[in-house]
Amino acid sequence: MARFIFVTGGVVSSLGKGIASASLGALLQARGYKVLLRKLEPYLNVDPGTMNPFQHGEVFVTDDGAETDLDLGHYERFTGVNSTRYDAVSTGRIYSDVLAKERRGDYLGATVQIIPHITDAIKAAILKNSETADFVICEIGGTVGDIEGLPFLEAIRQLRNDVGYRNSLYIHLTLVPFIPTAGELKTKPTQHSVQELQSKGIQPDILLCRSDRPIGAEERRKLALFCNVKPECVIEALDVSTVYQVPISYHQQGLDEEVCKHFALEAKTPPDLTIWEQIVDIVNRPEGDVTIGVVGKYTCLVDAYKSLHQALIHGGIANKVHVNIEWIDAEELENGSKALLVERLSPLHGILIPGGFGVRGTTGMMLAIEYAREHKIPLFGICFGMQLSVLEALRNIGKHKEANSTEFGPTSMPAVGLMTEWAKGDVVLKYFPGGDLGGTMRLGTYACQLSRDSKAYDIYSNAHISERHRHRYEVNTAYVKELENTGLYIVGKTEDGVLPEVVERKDHPWFIGVQFHPELKSRPFKPHPLFISFIKAALNQNRLF
Ligand code: GLN
Repeated sequence: MARFIFVTGGVVSSLGKGIASASLGALLQARGYKVLLRKLEPYLNVDPGTMNPFQHGEVFVTDDGAETDLDLGHYERFTGVNSTRYDAVSTGRIYSDVLAKERRGDYLGATVQIIPHITDAIKAAILKNSETADFVICEIGGTVGDIEGLPFLEAIRQLRNDVGYRNSLYIHLTLVPFIPTAGELKTKPTQHSVQELQSKGIQPDILLCRSDRPIGAEERRKLALFCNVKPECVIEALDVSTVYQVPISYHQQGLDEEVCKHFALEAKTPPDLTIWEQIVDIVNRPEGDVTIGVVGKYTCLVDAYKSLHQALIHGGIANKVHVNIEWIDAEELENGSKALLVERLSPLHGILIPGGFGVRGTTGMMLAIEYAREHKIPLFGICFGMQLSVLEALRNIGKHKEANSTEFGPTSMPAVGLMTEWAKGDVVLKYFPGGDLGGTMRLGTYACQLSRDSKAYDIYSNAHISERHRHRYEVNTAYVKELENTGLYIVGKTEDGVLPEVVERKDHPWFIGVQFHPELKSRPFKPHPLFISFIKAALNQNRLF
């Protein structure tokens, strides 16, 4: 049977529970164990697919097409294990399943209650398909004390009785702030948050203490005493220069050793952390740097582009350089002067247009594409970015001013149009306009065929690729001639040859648009080939700046 580790958070949000869980996963993996990471989300949405990126950050898409929290991206990047839809569980999902059962009469007349029906459903979700893992690490979203989180805390409290003390471990991630006026680190917020947890029947076994400076012996003693944990289980989690340092620094603080001790596992040889050391070494001592501009709509919240940001860093790691990212608000370009556009875009070595929705900011994104095309700056269009590169070409080179996406309203030249059905293996999936918005896009992994005479083929060294998708609109092949007349070619299509997946320019050193999201599959120890190539092209330009 798997062993269960529950990670809760206290004091404030944004302490990095996702990175902490993912890093512990990486450490246990480095000790030879098979890990499974799961996120339990207290919010009422069924999934984050319909949530505003400004509020919720990126929507991470799994191979099997679930729209999930961005923490699943951390899990995949740190462990290389691909998540599934069962690894993201929200209150909304639990309640809709329980209510559907109630409607079917499955509860045989019982009064349906939070305890035991909701908590049983949460426990079943935690246990689902866990048999083959050595460890299941479950992160509970939110902060201890949130009303929404109570059923989850109750469920994990009960689980210790179900699976046994030696098969379960509670880790509490907390903040130990430095108060300048007092000149000391304060333990009281952690004491209160642990008391809150204890009042729900949960005694944390390990405290993971975020702090901006080392936690002295006296504070450790206090934390251990007041929070009822062993002093060696007060683990310091200092701020570090790169997230990829976290597994190493947790190991140095003894986290994985304490975890193994709790589960009465023989201390094997120390974990092999060479890959993390190599990554950190390149990140801290790059041989050069490169500046990439990301022109999008959600640039004021970098979390909205979490995987993209990491994939660019990975591309830099592969080329041994630091990637400076300029987050450029597309609306700023669209509302500003030509001089501002040149000021913002001319220093860039590469321009990336990320995924997005809705018409706002698209003029600015197309101005950036035009600038990159004319000045031969490497241009990478992802999903929305690919669709806009098609519109830019048709409008500016093809003089088809009316070319548009039906996402933005009716048009006489729907160069990008709504897909209403698409094939997934032998199954035809349909979308009915006016129906539900949630979970109805073309989601998850689909295969794609690349033309052998394309740059994309050279980059992948393979004609058959598979990538993750999240879109509802698609480049319209009715206009392929008009598009080719502008120099933009469709070089990748779905295996049935129906849907365009990759476009590129032959008259440009590096101009590629992809309908999928390659950033979701990039890992620090296995950077995505498109990002490696994009950063390389950005580095190798002979432009004068
Ligand atoms: N809005 C576009 C579509 O739905 C692009 C989506 C995206 O960039 N993820 O097709």
